[in-house]
Amino acid sequence: MDAISRVAHERAITRRDFLRSVAIAGAGSQLFSFAPALALQPQRDRKVVVVTFGGGARDKETFAAEGQENIPHLIRELIPQATFFTQVVNRGILGHYVANASIATGVYERFDNFAHVAPENPTVFEYFRKGLRRPAQDAWVIAPSNGFNRIGQSSGALFPGGYGAEVVLPKELLASAAQREDMHPESLDFLLQDNYENPFLVSPSLHADTQLDRLQQILRISVKEIIAHAGTLSSADELSVFVMEQVMRQFSPSLLWITLHDMDVAHSGAYSLYIDAIQRTDRLCAEIWQKIESHPEYKGRTTLVILPDFGRDSDFDGAGNGFQHHRTGDALSRTTWIMALGPGIRENFTVDRPVESVDLVPTIGSWMGFETPYAKGRPVTEIL
Ligand SMILES: [Zn+2]
Repeated sequence: MDAISRVAHERAITRRDFLRSVAIAGAGSQLFSFAPALALQPQRDRKVVVVTFGGGARDKETFAAEGQENIPHLIRELIPQATFFTQVVNRGILGHYVANASIATGVYERFDNFAHVAPENPTVFEYFRKGLRRPAQDAWVIAPSNGFNRIGQSSGALFPGGYGAEVVLPKELLASAAQREDMHPESLDFLLQDNYENPFLVSPSLHADTQLDRLQQILRISVKEIIAHAGTLSSADELSVFVMEQVMRQFSPSLLWITLHDMDVAHSGAYSLYIDAIQRTDRLCAEIWQKIESHPEYKGRTTLVILPDFGRDSDFDGAGNGFQHHRTGDALSRTTWIMALGPGIRENFTVDRPVESVDLVPTIGSWMGFETPYAKGRPVTEIL
């Protein structure tokens, strides 16, 4: 067993013990036993929503005893309805774009996290659209920063072009809207910080007028509405969830991917902002499930998957700076979790065996009935 596997195993025990300690719904014996998979047939009308609990949070601030108060919605509302995997390893590069792209292709992509490149391997959106002959607007990605704008479609080296997802960057949408209204952007600065890895305010690109026009047109949302709503929000992730709602209302895509990212504010070194962001992400995950369950096109036929992109550095690695960054690539920062909930998924069920974040794409392929030939992961049998 290598060091990463060993630490992942130890983390799994901690998470499992924690879940047992909160005695979720009192289903103790069922919670940790194994039962054969239900082996449901793929459903043509099934919808899948993937939420990246993204930006990087550690167990210490989430599933460990001292962190549990930060994730009450996951623990009390979602996990009791979910199959929860305690041991998920990310063996790829710990940069947000490349890590999310790897989750979306099912292959550990090797490109420079800060390069404006498309993933080399086909994305789940392309497999889905080509395999099931779905139109462009049946697959959407809501992404947190400019760096993600090519996540919807691979480079074309391995797959024909034209099957990517619609990618919307809410900050870019807002920045362009503010510029068009000739608004002084300072009041919206906190929503417009493009990423948290750069200590200086970097606004999203403002060269996207055509994209703004197009998105406004297809989302049927006006510049004034975007700005008015932004004024009521407390974070960029709330803006993303607002845009996600518009996409659900307008297109009800069968494959919808949203990357939350607020907690990456930890790079600023402000622990309290990092904790606030974890608590907000926890709340937004529950709100997303409520939106699914109250939407006639989604209710009763949607599988929700929530997973982090990766963690953050431990307090004990001399090469790092604790919660602030994810630079060391240490084993702790690579071990996370996944939960899935929805029809056909066992509720209140915990799986301790190791799985990897690249297993998600083939699992989604099995759920929806399309092939994922280049993905390296394997379908996760416990939730098929
Ligand atoms: Zn980061």
